[in-house]
Amino acid sequence: MAKRQFKSESKRLLNLMINSIYTHKEIFLRELISNASDAIDKSYYLYLTNKDLVFNKDDFYIRITPDEDERTLTVSDTGIGMTKEELDSNLGVIAKSGSFDFKEENELKEGIDIIGQFGVGFYSAFMVAEKVTVISRKEGSEKAYKWESSGIDGYTISPCEKDKVGTDVILKIKPSTEDEDYDEFLDPYNLKRLVKTYSDFIKYPIKMKMKKRRLKEGSKNEYEDYYEDEILNSMVPIWRKNKNELKEEDYVKFYKEKHFGFDNPLKYIHVSTEGAVSYNAILYIPAKAPFDYYTKEFEKGLELYSNGVMIMKKCGELLPDYFGFVQGLVDSPDFSLNISREMLQHDRQLQFVAKKLNEKIKSELLSMLKDERENYEKFYKQFGRTLKYGLYSDWGISRETLEDLIMFYSSHEKKLVTLDEYVSRMKEDQKYIYYATGESIDKLSKLPQAELIADKGYEILYFIDEIDEFAIKVLLTYKDKEFKNISSSDIDIDAGKDSSGIDEGNKDLFAFMKEALGDKVKEVRASKRLKTHPVCLATEGEVSIEMEKVLKAMPDKPADIHAQKILEINTNHKIYEKLKDAYENDREKLKKYSNVLFNQALLIEGLTIDDPVQYANDVYELI
Ligand code: ADP
Repeated sequence: MAKRQFKSESKRLLNLMINSIYTHKEIFLRELISNASDAIDKSYYLYLTNKDLVFNKDDFYIRITPDEDERTLTVSDTGIGMTKEELDSNLGVIAKSGSFDFKEENELKEGIDIIGQFGVGFYSAFMVAEKVTVISRKEGSEKAYKWESSGIDGYTISPCEKDKVGTDVILKIKPSTEDEDYDEFLDPYNLKRLVKTYSDFIKYPIKMKMKKRRLKEGSKNEYEDYYEDEILNSMVPIWRKNKNELKEEDYVKFYKEKHFGFDNPLKYIHVSTEGAVSYNAILYIPAKAPFDYYTKEFEKGLELYSNGVMIMKKCGELLPDYFGFVQGLVDSPDFSLNISREMLQHDRQLQFVAKKLNEKIKSELLSMLKDERENYEKFYKQFGRTLKYGLYSDWGISRETLEDLIMFYSSHEKKLVTLDEYVSRMKEDQKYIYYATGESIDKLSKLPQAELIADKGYEILYFIDEIDEFAIKVLLTYKDKEFKNISSSDIDIDAGKDSSGIDEGNKDLFAFMKEALGDKVKEVRASKRLKTHPVCLATEGEVSIEMEKVLKAMPDKPADIHAQKILEINTNHKIYEKLKDAYENDREKLKKYSNVLFNQALLIEGLTIDDPVQYANDVYELI
């Protein structure tokens, strides 16, 4: 039979599994059981909601069968099963490619840790098996197929017999070596221990035939062996357990079993509420953003259960976009099993729960900010942008939820600070919350416009994320303090005596320079904010230079939005004398000066020059 080839990413993962020296190979069982449980979830739901199918709770279970003689371990389920095509596409490629997002081959070698960090799914079977056979029959089909692979060189799929719908995963366990004991994966007592450790919360029974001894019938001293089904797991889903019974590690285990994230979560939240709508929820704040988090592919949502039955794997309606990073599940007896995707938005119970969870997430984040600052900053570095985006995208409707959660880098603290922290230490004479926008903290800390503000001892927030200024424009104020871009024309800062009154006497000089620069600037004027630098740009109106950059980079540019630029000249700088001199004696030279200074101001802002050749020529000539 012709061998089919694994997709290349899958090959690498497979390779890692086969050659794994990972010490916790046993997690393969958790992975297979979790797949089995997911498959049963699907058919369980189908049977519950389809009147034509006869529902019998006892039909849904997982069975583990070790066979020491054959050296096989079989994990069977009565779940939804797979068609031939599904066997091919589901097991021939990593389903969640990128959940295994290693870039370098040496990461692969170090990848041993990756296995422990997060679930690696079906392929983990190859850590303990030299051959894996999957026999599956799809719900509603008479036909069954067998998928078989001994590793890297591919797999085969062929028709076979199977009397019940569902899937058997049969592992041919590797022979033990001096260093590695694989026999333990055939030992029923050890398997039982593994199920207890990793899969206790699975809600379907995980059965195994256990060997027992009993007195032979009619005999007083003769014993015989017999086998009896034992259910290995407690089957109480973790979210229904009492919080006091659970330890942090239980939540972490569950997080990994569910593949909610790659790392240990930063925080877990367990809510159990009785009331108008009763519900249990377990929510997690991941430590790391998923690789696709900031792409369109990312799908937010929580698992949705009605009385323990899974209805939906990703219910997006339960989370606002700005909390889209939250992972977890909600279970309520008040959710209707037959709730349809279309109806979700109008479902009152669901809306109620969503609102409550939203409040809970906010309060947990706030307490994290207060009590676990370091963790909060870790969180913020991963997900802060989502919060700011949230402010912007709904025009401030969620400001109450978000304004106390956002942070910015500060010129004073040299670290992230909240708006509350900023405002609480504003100087007495300070009117505004000052901010500067640009590409990097380093560049911003050198901005000419910042000098005087810094001299006054005012703190400046550094906006280095594109969304920052847009978000702030929506907020407008925080605790009644207005935000002010340090480059805006009406900076309204008292620079002291030496720069006042200069405008008047030099009106003509500036008018000439403005004339020379044409439309590029709205005005040329004496600066009240510069100290040692000769020039800078200021902007007038709502659109700042950074905003212009962002808007220009948009695929469908809003028509002709640009910042109104003002060229500010430091009249205390010796360059100013040169300008005056040129104005008196050489107007052509002044035109060149104007052009060069303007272009330099652009460069300082990180903007591009329209005509670099002209600029270069002007500079050469002046030299
Ligand atoms: P993941 O479970 O993370 O999606 P896996 O590699 O473990 O990735 O499995 C890939 C896919 O194969 C699953 O998403 C599922 O569609 C399918 N699958 C695996 N095991 C089973 C099973 N026992 N029954 C039905 N489908 C399964």
